[in-house]
Amino acid sequence: MKTRIGIAGYGNLGRGVEFAVAQNPDTELVAVFTRRNPETVKIQTEGVKVYPIAEAASHKDEIDVLILCGGSATDLPVQTPELAKNFNVIDSFDTHARIPEHFADVDKACKEGHTVGIISVGWDPGLFSLNRIYAESILPNGKTYTFWGKGVSQGHSDAIRRVAGVKRGIQYTIPVPEAVEEVRACKNPELTTRQKHTRECFIVAEEGADLQKIEEEIKTMPNYFSDYDTTVHFISEEEFDRDHTAMPHGGFVIRTGKTGKGENTDQLIEYSLKLGSNPEFTSSVLVAYARAAHRMASEGQTGCKTVFDVAPSYLSPLSGEELRAHLL
Ligand code: NDP
Repeated sequence: MKTRIGIAGYGNLGRGVEFAVAQNPDTELVAVFTRRNPETVKIQTEGVKVYPIAEAASHKDEIDVLILCGGSATDLPVQTPELAKNFNVIDSFDTHARIPEHFADVDKACKEGHTVGIISVGWDPGLFSLNRIYAESILPNGKTYTFWGKGVSQGHSDAIRRVAGVKRGIQYTIPVPEAVEEVRACKNPELTTRQKHTRECFIVAEEGADLQKIEEEIKTMPNYFSDYDTTVHFISEEEFDRDHTAMPHGGFVIRTGKTGKGENTDQLIEYSLKLGSNPEFTSSVLVAYARAAHRMASEGQTGCKTVFDVAPSYLSPLSGEELRAHLL
């Protein structure tokens, strides 16, 4: 059963979904939808058309799963419930605090449309969430730590680009090595925000800009930088183009726990990701969950789901028999 995929929103994730579909022979891309003039959006797959998103519903019979690649801040809260009325949908909504609200909106739309919607798919939320639930269910007496990086944070990079005098800027989140070591040694440290991560910024300044003022404004920016130790580097545009245009990311989820007599035995579970490209990886996760959504919908399931509700075998193109023979 081939899964016919549509992409809604064509940015970094949209492009990544195209690459991921090309690597999965049981999936095929059938359409791309955008809010922009479709003629201005050039995609990579030959023979696939770009349509205005307002016309999406008229293509519903050609598409098994629509992968939503809009931004979490303002696109997905509107687009996912709207499109879930007509399509099985997947999104990567990553505003953790607003997931319950988004779930309720998408659930209502899916029940109206008799569709399946899997929200907050990716790596965090997503694969990291799965590792937290497995680890906490297995080691009830323990402590969970999530470290992010080294990697580019889009939100923080956007924030520094809004500072007056900044021409270009990128921000890397970096786990503090000593904190990670303490956690791995099962010392169960209580870590503050500042003790867990540092932030490093690379800036190309406008000509004649006051560098000291830029640095000060970044380091004291509330919510983004004031709770962290931040380093600011000013570099040339050539260096920026050479070294800072990729979007690496990653991180690890660690749970340490105690088991056995007197709860004296140390146990440690660690899951780690080192990603050369955050969007290309996130898109690969989205496509695996699109396969699952297609199967769940074919079985007659409806409603909003998260990664917690999807059985692992639904993600794989292999049959149950093949999985039991080779991966169990
Ligand atoms: P982008 O900013 O690249 O794209 C977002 C939307 O902006 C697109 O869908 C597109 O919509 C529009 N757009 C893209 N390029 C242009 C352009 N040149 N001009 C005008 N509009 C444009 O975001 P990403 O793809 O990098 O990320 C999307 C979301 O994915 C993020 O907000 C983040 O929350 C989430 N994410 C989640 C992860 C997880 O682990 N769960 C990991 C990584 C990201 P349109 O075509 O309709 O104009």
